[in-house]
Amino acid sequence: MNNGKFETDRHGWAELLPPRQATPPLKGEHRADWAVVGAGVTGLAAARRLAENRPDQKIVLLDARAVGQGASGRNSGYAVAVSHFGGGFSQKKIDEYRRVNRINQAGLTLLRERIEANSIGCQWREQGFYHTAADSRSQAEYHYFLEYLSALEIAHTPLDTAELADRLGTKTYHSGIHVHAGALVQPAALVRGLADTLPSNVHLSENSPVINIERGAPLRLVTSDGALLADNVLLATNFEAPKLGFLARRLSASTLTGSFTRILSEDERASLGSLSDWGVLSLHGGGATVRLTVDGRISLRNTAEYNGGQLLSDAQLQQRQAVHRESFERRFPQLAHVPFEFAWSGVEGISRNSTNFFSKTAKNIYFAGGYNGSGVSRGTAFGHALADYACGADTDLVRDCLASAPATWIPPRPLVDIGAYFTVKKRFRGVGLDR
Ligand SMILES: Cc1cc2nc3c(=O)[nH]c(=O)nc-3n(C[C@H](O)[C@H](O)[C@H](O)COP(=O)(O)OP(=O)(O)OC[C@H]3O[C@@H](n4cnc5c(N)ncnc54)[C@H](O)[C@@H]3O)c2cc1C
Repeated sequence: MNNGKFETDRHGWAELLPPRQATPPLKGEHRADWAVVGAGVTGLAAARRLAENRPDQKIVLLDARAVGQGASGRNSGYAVAVSHFGGGFSQKKIDEYRRVNRINQAGLTLLRERIEANSIGCQWREQGFYHTAADSRSQAEYHYFLEYLSALEIAHTPLDTAELADRLGTKTYHSGIHVHAGALVQPAALVRGLADTLPSNVHLSENSPVINIERGAPLRLVTSDGALLADNVLLATNFEAPKLGFLARRLSASTLTGSFTRILSEDERASLGSLSDWGVLSLHGGGATVRLTVDGRISLRNTAEYNGGQLLSDAQLQQRQAVHRESFERRFPQLAHVPFEFAWSGVEGISRNSTNFFSKTAKNIYFAGGYNGSGVSRGTAFGHALADYACGADTDLVRDCLASAPATWIPPRPLVDIGAYFTVKKRFRGVGLDR
């Protein structure tokens, strides 16, 4: 049983949107055929798919927070089609690369279809991303990535410093690759839109933390204000699954931070090259993720740390913002006068061996999550497939998800803290100008 505490704050992408009234919390005792716990991209996709598979059954979707306050509303908004597997290209891993990219692509397609069918306004722009290299490590990675893209016949365009400067308005990058597939999105608007257009047999209760799951038939989910009896439970709780007694030694968390500038003026935007909006992913694992958003802000994320699965305090965020600022001014000296308007943190679910989780974890309880910082499209695909799997369907996507490698063991505290310290150090080794 957990203490029902699920922290939240008023920073991030949700604050850039108009206020939204959360659905009322679950009160009293209720009965459903299915419970989905967690209304991020995984839980939203799972609930929607259950509703399609079982139109006559009742599905209750519970979230501890308001929709948009989990990682799904706090990420950098890259819906990836093509994963970058750092550390070199290996012919032997081609089948694995293809499997992961099929899952990414399935998630991207599902998101596009859902957004179009429900007219969700979330700044969805499907024009790929720039994978860039500024320092020596990422330049080595640039060559591996090119080899990988060519071997897998993935559409891309290599670019040099001048071509990147023309498109992005910065001379920071030595080289880069535009991968044509992939979408950028306002993440909080995406999850709000998905939550507000759920099928009629899905009932969403926000601010309803599940504090315990009592085993039996039916299962009994105890929330802070009520209880839900359900025949099956789909857990989409990301790194917080251990609070309910699942995957404690397999699933961990990393806290990331970023900042947004105010909206740039027309002249400031004109100094940023020829494109109206774009997204840069670093070819160094610790490098900065930088976007020019559709509404004309620069967003930059470049810190990651182990913080026990917690968001950062305002004081900590202020310190991290100095790191964002240095990186921003180095890339865009012409915008050095432009202030940041927001800083935000978010927590991603990670495994030690960078695998994802997709399984039946107990009788009538299923779990999907932990996407190591790449869960917008993948989480959507995993959630969709989890619903199919729980309904007994055997699809190509279910088989691809089931083929995820088992997660390696994570030691308990304080060893995990020491391990996490060194993992983070390793992530940023040689980051140099890419930070
Ligand atoms: C700063 C940052 C940047 C990122 N950038 C990207 C990116 O650009 N592209 C990308 O693909 N991925 C990115 N990621 C990762 C991505 O956001 C996640 O992988 C993805 O959102 C996970 O989705 P999810 O639905 O599984 O989990 P979450 O979005 O974390 O949702 C889980 C939900 O479960 C709820 N919950 C947990 N426990 C309980 C409980 N006991 N009872 C009720 N509810 C509960 C939580 O409140 C939460 O809303 C980033 C992550 C962060 C933090």
